[in-house]
Amino acid sequence: MIVNMNPEATEEQIQHVIDRIKECGFQAHVIRGAERTVIGAVGNSGRRGELEGLQVAPGVAALVPISQPFKLVGRELRSERTVVDVGGVKIGGPNWVVIAGPCSVESRAQLMEAARGVQAAGAHLLRGGAYKPRTSPYDFQGLGIEALEFLREAREETGLPIVTEVMGTEDVTLVSEYADMLQVGARNMQNFPLLRRLAKTDRPVLLKRGPSATVKEWLLAAEYLLSGGNANVVLCERGIKTFESELRNTLDLAAIALAKELSHLPVLADPSHGTGRRSVIPAMSRAAIAAGADGLMIEVHPCPERALSDGAQSLDVTAFARLMQDMERPMATRAGVLV
Ligand code: PEP
Ligand code: MN
Repeated sequence: MIVNMNPEATEEQIQHVIDRIKECGFQAHVIRGAERTVIGAVGNSGRRGELEGLQVAPGVAALVPISQPFKLVGRELRSERTVVDVGGVKIGGPNWVVIAGPCSVESRAQLMEAARGVQAAGAHLLRGGAYKPRTSPYDFQGLGIEALEFLREAREETGLPIVTEVMGTEDVTLVSEYADMLQVGARNMQNFPLLRRLAKTDRPVLLKRGPSATVKEWLLAAEYLLSGGNANVVLCERGIKTFESELRNTLDLAAIALAKELSHLPVLADPSHGTGRRSVIPAMSRAAIAAGADGLMIEVHPCPERALSDGAQSLDVTAFARLMQDMERPMATRAGVLV
């Protein structure tokens, strides 16, 4: 339920509504807009009948039910777009951002070369997996804490904030000490204990869409983070399973536009996992920005043929620099593309 306050409602009246919402067994989410304050009553164990009495409380303009199941992630309660600050880089503002780096951190030398290369090409954040969710248990699983140390060193040298995946609840405290943004991988999108744990951190979360998740399921996964207390969430479309066999996944461009329509959260696109094929990454990067993405995640390896994971979809530093130049020319801002 949304409680729209009158533009001239006093602080006391707003506080009264918050108190009543809590007394009725709901969480109160206060959104202070330029014109008026709006208060969301969210939860599943409250007494809705009693809440309806707020219609006649002083300072209340109207009560409006929230029709979407994702109450806090949707735009009914909050129409203003969310901008997430990751170590000083703003995701969801007027300029698109690029997270780039290797699929896996493989060695100090490999990471530093990638970090310097992506920084010189204009990337805004550095990625690199320390804990890798691999389909086969026999594949490279990541260097763990050693990789986190290399990532920290790369941030110190380049100044680029770090994005890295956290695979389980037991790793959240450790990975949070190193990372500026915690990635929830596609396979973990509906790992509800992990989402609940990440809701309690102060680190921004990058929530990848599951390979066979609907947009609604993806937004409901984000709802776990917001309802648990972490509003710094960025969505990332990374391709879904379809019948197409030439590509690893199908980058779902319509899902980017739809997620932006339904949610105030920023949305990134990952054309590396979204296609699995290096040659189409520049085209899909441009397409994703045109569809409304707030930025990209791109895998870059100093020598893709030697990569321990995802070499076929990794750009080398030169190809990444070319992609960045091509992206800059016709569309310096997202707004520039859309008009
Ligand atoms: C990754 O970003 O390296 C990764 C494993 O991505 P996804 O979870 O989308 O497969
Ligand atoms: Mn990868």
